Amino acid sequence: MNDTLKTLVRAQWCQRRVLVVQRRADSLPGELKERVEAAQTHRDALAQAEAERDDAVRRVESLIAGCASKTEEREQLDLEARETSNATSRQILQHKAREIGNQMARDDSDLIRAKDRVVACEDVLYEHRGVLSELDRDLAEFRATVATDGDDFGKDLAQLQIDLAQEIALIPIEFRADYERATAARKGRGVVALNGAACGGCGTNLSPNQVNQILPSRVVVRCPSCARFLVSRDIWNAEIKFMERR
Ligand SMILES: [Zn+2]
Repeated sequence: MNDTLKTLVRAQWCQRRVLVVQRRADSLPGELKERVEAAQTHRDALAQAEAERDDAVRRVESLIAGCASKTEEREQLDLEARETSNATSRQILQHKAREIGNQMARDDSDLIRAKDRVVACEDVLYEHRGVLSELDRDLAEFRATVATDGDDFGKDLAQLQIDLAQEIALIPIEFRADYERATAARKGRGVVALNGAACGGCGTNLSPNQVNQILPSRVVVRCPSCARFLVSRDIWNAEIKFMERR
């Protein structure tokens, strides 16, 4: 068996792993930023709900204060109505006292509604606080994960770069530049497995003669159409399995 074929598959595997790990490491700061923003959005909503609750509480307080002063005012009018000897004045005073009484009844209904609003606001606040504390807990956990994963990714990457350099050094010099060109041109897939009698990269059907060269895995064959290196499915599977188990 031609060891070059194995090395080509292994080198490409390392190269693709480098990209995957790099992409994962790169995505961490963005993901963290999204979580921070989500928590902030919720914090803003909580502040808004608190402002609404405070507003409702002030309305309740003002209605209660209004009720006290109106009670006093009405008692004063009743007293004056009782004390006056002028019938017209008494009627006017009694009328004013009744109007205040009517207003107080309306204020009472308002007070019930305002109190209901305070309760409703408290419910919303309770929910917001629950969600926010969960978000904050997740965020703290995620920050810790980012720190450790960042370290792990860094270590993985360093090891993968070493492995990759070793595999590339094992590629015979006459194929090395072609391998690098093919992988660069084919987005990291410059080496592919044979797919039946077709190239696993571009799908071009190969001649029986070409297939017969590839299957025994003794020579290095490239696709006549896309120039990818072609290996048998057996070599491909065995090498990928080997690399993934390491
Ligand atoms: Zn091809």
